[in-house]
Amino acid sequence: MDLSPSPEFTAQANGTAQMYDDAAADHEGFWAAQARERISWASDFDTTLDWSEAPFAKWFVGGTLNVAYNCVDRHVEAGNGDRVAIHFEGEGGDTRTITYADLQKEVAKAANALTSLGVEKGDRVAVYMPMIPETVVTMLACARLGAPHSVIFGGFSAEALRTRIDDAEAKVVVTTDGQFRRGKPAPLKAAVDAALDVGSDDGPVKSVLVVRRTEGDVDWTEGRDVWWHDVVDDQPDTHEAQPMDSEHPLFILYTSGTTGKPKGIFHTSGGYLTQAAYTNAVVHDVHPETDVYWCTADVGWVTGHSYIVYGPLANGATQVLYEGTPDTPHQGRWWEIIEKYGVSVFYTAPTAIRACMKWGADIPQKFDLSSVRVLGSVGEPINPEAWLWYRKHIGNDTAPIVDTWWQTETGAIMISPLPGVTTLEPGSAQKPIPGISAEILDDDGNPFTEPEKVGYLVLTKPWPSMLRGIWGDPERYKETYWSRFGEKYYFAGDGAKYDGSGNIWLLGRVDDVMNVSGHRLSTAEIESALVSHPSVAEAAVVGATDEQTGQAVCAFVILRGDAEDHGEDTVQELRNHVAQQIGPIAKPRQIMVVPELPKTRSGKIMRRLLRDVAENREVGDVTTLADSSVMNLIQDGMAKDS
Ligand code: ATP
Ligand code: MG
Repeated sequence: MDLSPSPEFTAQANGTAQMYDDAAADHEGFWAAQARERISWASDFDTTLDWSEAPFAKWFVGGTLNVAYNCVDRHVEAGNGDRVAIHFEGEGGDTRTITYADLQKEVAKAANALTSLGVEKGDRVAVYMPMIPETVVTMLACARLGAPHSVIFGGFSAEALRTRIDDAEAKVVVTTDGQFRRGKPAPLKAAVDAALDVGSDDGPVKSVLVVRRTEGDVDWTEGRDVWWHDVVDDQPDTHEAQPMDSEHPLFILYTSGTTGKPKGIFHTSGGYLTQAAYTNAVVHDVHPETDVYWCTADVGWVTGHSYIVYGPLANGATQVLYEGTPDTPHQGRWWEIIEKYGVSVFYTAPTAIRACMKWGADIPQKFDLSSVRVLGSVGEPINPEAWLWYRKHIGNDTAPIVDTWWQTETGAIMISPLPGVTTLEPGSAQKPIPGISAEILDDDGNPFTEPEKVGYLVLTKPWPSMLRGIWGDPERYKETYWSRFGEKYYFAGDGAKYDGSGNIWLLGRVDDVMNVSGHRLSTAEIESALVSHPSVAEAAVVGATDEQTGQAVCAFVILRGDAEDHGEDTVQELRNHVAQQIGPIAKPRQIMVVPELPKTRSGKIMRRLLRDVAENREVGDVTTLADSSVMNLIQDGMAKDS
């Protein structure tokens, strides 16, 4: 299979091979050029990077800008007010078309409304909303006022909401009466009420602004709760945006909580916006005049922040915003949306691709996906098998796939191929993008380039969209990211290796890397080997303590819809398959066929809980789990087997 870029793609690509050379020759000069090219500054910066108080970075020092102006107003001023910013598709089929001119008015009204509720520059606003246009409008209105938002995923409980509101000391909470989930309305504001109604409440929250979405019943606290249609709709639809310092905080966002308690990561304005816009241009290759872009992430995750709100809107792109789940009301809903809007750039997560594989390729085949020209993946390593399926069945067998490695902390894409430049390697995120430097270190903190050796991924130079800290906890910031290998290296927490061609392969969390009889084995590789078996849809691998080998490989697998479970024979076949694919050392001691895997609400497999099961421990913190009953299913299955 030839995975080198086609000359036609290369000819039109935003990313170029030259960018790697430019960035290598002058790191700060490269980023300064990106910042000036892609962002409209109210006043230019004088210092590109101030790293004198490392690891606390300041980018584009002295510059001022308004992030919302950059994402909205300037496009209208440039004559693109009629361009569609958002094609909104509600789960129930209701739609809205919002142009940049419309968006400008909506954001102005919301900014005026928040001001009327007492929100001032620097105040925090919690956003607990589903995937509707008002959510994007609220985030931009906050940015316009310089009031950092803290978006909390709409699937989180009142308890999760409360700790996040308290941590950020939010003055206002914006929410909806309810949200549509799988065809049914579910309450949302009720969780806000529960979160705020604790003890003798003299908490930080002064107002709750409520969008009517489902028309479900809500409780009402007079003096605190206000309807969006009462306070936003009649506001003037103009608002003068004030420039903010480049380092003014833009948002706080909690990590997914895959490995433990979520961390309140905070990002600032100029550097973040620069890298979000740059990566959406060169990695997703979005051409705002012609592309229809769609990122399926929830705005409650960093992917939604950088690649629904800030990156594409800063670039003036046209995008789809979809409220619901991929299988409501049928398993072809996503492909139907691609066909309907002519989506050309599509960005989703491996977990979704594996679910679609499980449902079968005949489903996307019923739709016209010929508009698709770039595909992206984020959130977990994408197994080569899933990569090939994605390209073949969604990407017309031609679309380049960008496997993008990054984190809430990094703010924007860090390691990824550039479409039109890179010859692709299925399953590998390949190379740091121009302007980013990464290395792999051994246990002693020495960089190496030897192929197939497992080490620790680190970032070696500050980057514009890097986190500026953990909200309210500078010590934890230093300790978590800048101490494992000294203050020279940002420790990402992910295991990685090079292949023989110098591509980087992400191998899963450092905590998950197994040591079997002195051999370092990665969860990602064994999982990919399992998924490459025709019977397996999904797999999760953990290392469990073993008297003989130190750790032993334990695998949990979900079979494909059409595969039959032949009990012990199936297990033996899969064990042998892994041995054949990787080597006898990787052969799982134990394989459990399970109906579901524990995943975070952002769709990542939570291996630490499976490790608890494999080691017969009580399972740990499950608050960020999408469905906590999954653990019972798995444990019941174990009990039955043994
Ligand atoms: P927590 O830090 O609270 O445990 P989390 O790390 O899951 O949560 P995120 O910031 O949403 O929270 O996820 C970032 C992580 O996702 C990365 O560190 C990496 O492990 C994984 N990841 C993201 N993209 C990729 C990718 N393309 N390939 C491999 N892994 C990826
Ligand atoms: Mg993390």
